[in-house]
Amino acid sequence: MNATGRDATVAASEQPWDAVIIGAGPAGSLAAHQLASRGLRTLLVERSAFPRDKVCGGCVGARAVEQLELLGLGHVARGQGGMPIAGLQICRGSRRLAVPLSGGVAISRRAFDAALVDAAVAAGAEFRPETLATVTPAVADPAAGFRQVALRTRGRDAAEIAARVVLAADGLGHSSLRQLPAFESRVAEHARIGLGTIAAASTKDYEPGTIYMAVGRTGYVGVVRVEHDRLNVAAAIDSRFLRQCGGPAAAIATILQQAERPVPAVESAAWQGTPPLTRHTEKLADWRLFVLGDAAGYVEPFTGEGIAWALTAAAAVTPLAEQACTAWEPRLVTRWHQRYGRLIRRRQRLCRMLTALLKHPWAASTAWAGLSMLPRLARPLVQHLERS
Ligand SMILES: Cc1cc2nc3c(=O)[nH]c(=O)nc-3n(C[C@H](O)[C@H](O)[C@H](O)COP(=O)(O)OP(=O)(O)OC[C@H]3O[C@@H](n4cnc5c(N)ncnc54)[C@H](O)[C@@H]3O)c2cc1C
Repeated sequence: MNATGRDATVAASEQPWDAVIIGAGPAGSLAAHQLASRGLRTLLVERSAFPRDKVCGGCVGARAVEQLELLGLGHVARGQGGMPIAGLQICRGSRRLAVPLSGGVAISRRAFDAALVDAAVAAGAEFRPETLATVTPAVADPAAGFRQVALRTRGRDAAEIAARVVLAADGLGHSSLRQLPAFESRVAEHARIGLGTIAAASTKDYEPGTIYMAVGRTGYVGVVRVEHDRLNVAAAIDSRFLRQCGGPAAAIATILQQAERPVPAVESAAWQGTPPLTRHTEKLADWRLFVLGDAAGYVEPFTGEGIAWALTAAAAVTPLAEQACTAWEPRLVTRWHQRYGRLIRRRQRLCRMLTALLKHPWAASTAWAGLSMLPRLARPLVQHLERS
């Protein structure tokens, strides 16, 4: 089946798969595309009906777009009516910091993720939405060449399938690994939660091509215009503040008003939330199993790089997963830890530092004053975050 429900095809058999990939976000769908393109029999499993919304700032940054273009998938970001991003405006109280940007695209995750799933299906992967996957504990027999995954597809009997390699790309909670306690992630103290919705563009104050970021002490809200002239609204906020405000609409309105930004029509919007955001997953691989994307750990989204990290990880795990299908070797576990540390964790460190800074009012004010006086400094910083 493709992401928009057209041309439904269900596998006639449950022959063992080469690769089973859990989660149809950017990490899972790109990995499915890459492995299917290499001729591997690939199944992409997603618990939600597709297309689906997802809490996200809706900004596919320049580095993510470049990565897609390198893989011949530039149309996934650029071809769905997304808006080119020309700048970022950070709003704090009555102060404004404008940073020019280029190369990124503002697009809803509904459109972006569906296009990436379609690309995976076009490359030969089978897509099974509305299917909850659980990786079962490893079989002790070293001669066994397959990992087992339990599937619960809506309207079908539960089934167990086998795969030479399993990729867990199932996002923050990585629910598919709940039977494997060694993969549990450690949530940072006072980690914020994510909130998001898509609203009608009721106000002209949010211009196309600009990301508006309202920063307050209890969190920050990003608003950007996406395809079909709608506003993507996303926030990372303190859960205590959310409770005090009595709900997402009031919390988001408060932060926008503190930053003197107009409040889009979000009172009756359908809100989605996330579990606590900043978290670390120590273990990233095991026998015929690799973890990637947000499932491998995440840092608050202030710099908007999560999609680029997810795509980078998908491209980087592909040769290891391919090798695991041919002949599993225990050293693939170490290689994935090393590769992930070098490519992703190093980049997440700077983002972690910035978000920590924002939580300390004195440090945030000092940094803000410095950047406001020397706005030329802000551009290279943002470009470094975008492209490093
Ligand atoms: C408030 C906020 C704003 C953000 N803004 C940006 C931004 O502007 N730009 C940016 O680049 N990044 C942003 N991010 C980060 C970005 O959304 C993530 O880093 C990115 O989605 C990670 O991709 P992923 O493929 O790892 O996981 P996800 O996109 O979360 O995909 C995981 C998928 O797995 C599915 N799933 C979960 N469990 C199972 C299961 N057991 N079986 C089957 N399927 C399952 C889920 O339904 C989901 O579709 C933001 C995040 C937040 C919270």
